[in-house]
Amino acid sequence: MTYSYQAPVSQTLFDRAAVVTPGGVNSPVRAFRAVGGTPRFMVSGTGPYLTDADGREYVDLVCSWGPMILGHAHPEVIARVQKAVARGTSFGTPGQGEVELAEEIVSRIAPVDQVRLVSSGTEATMSAIRLARGFTGRAKVIKFAGCYHGHVDALLAAAGSGVATFGLPDTPGVTGAQAGETIVLPYNDLASVGAAFEAHPGEIACVITEASPGNMGVVPPGPGFNQGLKDLCAANGALYISDEVMTGFRTSKAGWYGVDGVAPDLMTFGKVMGGGFPAAAFGGRADVMAYLAPAGPVYQAGTLSGNPVATAAGLAQLRLLDDAAYEKVDAVSREIQGLVGEALTKEGVAHRLQTASNMFSVFFTDQPVTDFAEAKTQEAFRFTAFFQSMLANGVYLPPSAFESWFVSTAHADDPAAIERIAAALPAAARAAAEATAE
Ligand code: PLP
Repeated sequence: MTYSYQAPVSQTLFDRAAVVTPGGVNSPVRAFRAVGGTPRFMVSGTGPYLTDADGREYVDLVCSWGPMILGHAHPEVIARVQKAVARGTSFGTPGQGEVELAEEIVSRIAPVDQVRLVSSGTEATMSAIRLARGFTGRAKVIKFAGCYHGHVDALLAAAGSGVATFGLPDTPGVTGAQAGETIVLPYNDLASVGAAFEAHPGEIACVITEASPGNMGVVPPGPGFNQGLKDLCAANGALYISDEVMTGFRTSKAGWYGVDGVAPDLMTFGKVMGGGFPAAAFGGRADVMAYLAPAGPVYQAGTLSGNPVATAAGLAQLRLLDDAAYEKVDAVSREIQGLVGEALTKEGVAHRLQTASNMFSVFFTDQPVTDFAEAKTQEAFRFTAFFQSMLANGVYLPPSAFESWFVSTAHADDPAAIERIAAALPAAARAAAEATAE
């Protein structure tokens, strides 16, 4: 299906971008290839809304892929950032903001004794894996199909997110040596993890998993899965790494750890903790973190790590995220889920709404989705029609059927935003019902 031009200024910018940037974007899923049509170039955001270069306003259900849990341009966050910027943007020295952000993280998440700040979730997972290998003296890493941990070479095997969207089985540029120590297993299948440990005694450095996956759509861990991973790791001398880049400080005050209470050896964070700036982190057990340079032998560094503006934004956002804020986000998420389910049911569209506290996504199937193979059986063509209709009616969804939707306190504070979603849903549900596979 082709979609008519509805955004001439965005299209012009996209055409210009395509000349100077591969595919016209700086991160693949932004190009709308899974859904077709013109990617919207956004110029501003306020509360639950984004405004594009053509002057159209959308209710934003992407929230920058998770970080903007207080909505866009929250006045207190902006004020803190402006203060920080006025003092200078980067010093390449230690600073007080880094200490305070680290203290905030450590105080919220009991298994984290120490934390190292980095600039992206990718850097966090890459560094955590290096540290796990350095600490254990082992090479192999277990990951799960459909879990995305950033574009780390060793972890770009059966990854979710953009890789799921494009259906790339692999990516050129990752060598056999880089991916050869990665064991990819089906999600939610503890028996296969046990079998891998038996097949590779003394060789597995770590198991890395999304604390509750959101990159193949929302597919929460089954009962006992995360605890089972932790137990298998402990029994086999491997580290259990919980990737909370997406769930951290979003699914509760203490992220997914705050939901399931399973204490990992190492954890990774990003998104919410940066307040919309490039700030991320990895942390965990003191004896493991002590292996990191300059305290220990495992090298890791960054020119902009702990950047003063990014840490100011992250701290401001985290300090506003008290219990009441999470209750608000959870409640508005439930409300939107209810509206989506109602509209799809009314049109007789087979669907599953899957949730992980306030994260949720819709699978166009009537079967429960517990792993990546099942996620891929959904009728993604129905999502395309649904997405385009919502977009045309002023609601911005993630441009892929394999992504979580995100909401914020600003959605909870603005009934008009919820009304707009409710008003857009009937036509979108109808479009999904009428869609046909091409
Ligand atoms: N880990 C998870 C679970 C993620 O969802 C992402 C990004 O979406 C990453 C790691 C990579 O983070 P970044 O895009 O900041 O590199």
